[in-house]
Amino acid sequence: MTRAHNFAAGPAALPTEVLEQAQAEMLDFRGSGMSVMEMSHRSAEFVEVAETAEADFRELMGVGDDYHVLFLQGGATQQFAAIPLNLLGDKTVANYVHTGSWSAKAIKEANKFCDARVSATSEASNFDRIPDPATWQVDDDAAYLHICSNETIGGVQYHEFPDVTPTLVADMSSDILSRPVDVSRFGLIYAGAQKNIGPAGLTLVVVRKDLVGNARAGTPSMLDYKVHADAGSMSNTPPTYTWYLAGLVFKWLKAQGGLPAVAEANARKAQTLYSAIDNSNFYTAPVPVNCRSVMNVPFTLPDAELDSAFLAGAKERRLMNLKGHRSVGGMRASIYNAVSQTSVDALVDYMAEFERERG
Ligand SMILES: *Cc1c(COP(=O)(O)O)cnc(C)c1O
Repeated sequence: MTRAHNFAAGPAALPTEVLEQAQAEMLDFRGSGMSVMEMSHRSAEFVEVAETAEADFRELMGVGDDYHVLFLQGGATQQFAAIPLNLLGDKTVANYVHTGSWSAKAIKEANKFCDARVSATSEASNFDRIPDPATWQVDDDAAYLHICSNETIGGVQYHEFPDVTPTLVADMSSDILSRPVDVSRFGLIYAGAQKNIGPAGLTLVVVRKDLVGNARAGTPSMLDYKVHADAGSMSNTPPTYTWYLAGLVFKWLKAQGGLPAVAEANARKAQTLYSAIDNSNFYTAPVPVNCRSVMNVPFTLPDAELDSAFLAGAKERRLMNLKGHRSVGGMRASIYNAVSQTSVDALVDYMAEFERERG
């Protein structure tokens, strides 16, 4: 068996060791005689899986006791609505920083529930950067300020988080667990699982306890953080198998040495790829150095006519899912935690070879 080099943006690569463990436990989970996906979410076996996963996640991220960690469904997209419904309280204004496709979607959804005011936008430079926080227009009466810590499509990432007065809320769907983060600076962090946590179907919400319990009247129960917090994320059937696999990923991250070690490995991979791009006269990275994502690396060839030949040659070498997002074009290599240095080295070797042939 040879595994492909998978540069997919999401759903994305998972660690081989995690998949092997899931395979070994598939038919008979620890002597139970059944698969985790066949168990009641209320069974002692599953409750232990769930509690261990939460404890490991809290340890990895350094989440304090003053935060709930919720294991939900609906994707990050559902949080675009849940956040205003839960966090507005008596207020009618929220601030959003517009840095690309995902923050745009969050803003559009929030506008159904409140006055979602754009504090800053990088639209003028085609969303290639984080606007300087010194220029942000922050409203005194904003219930919260929302950022997208890593714009998965544009490949733009915050390398420092801003100090702002309103409660800071971050969509970390594509860079959670890629580096240490000071959780205490945020009121709420959320992430869909399918980039850096596990398979699709699970969404993690880390929310400060004092922000829970104020959902506006009429909020559907499944969008009310209090309903999930009170029930340990088991108010209805949670995505049990995805939760289990996320737990295996958390153990794997701990075995790598935790987030400081993971961040170092990620920085090395990103450095390998960006250097290859910057040192060539053939490939171009559109994002300025200080905003470049360590997780999603967009790049272009000198002529879009070469794209299909590049992708075909990549596929022959099992370098998969490199086509850029349809809204941007060019290429994009997503190099999440589970993508190894070996895969990045194979990509860089192929890029040099293609440049020699076509450059
Ligand atoms: C993928 C992604 C989303 C959407 O996630 P779903 O789970 O598909 O709803 C939202 N925000 C960011 C930053 C993403 O990368």
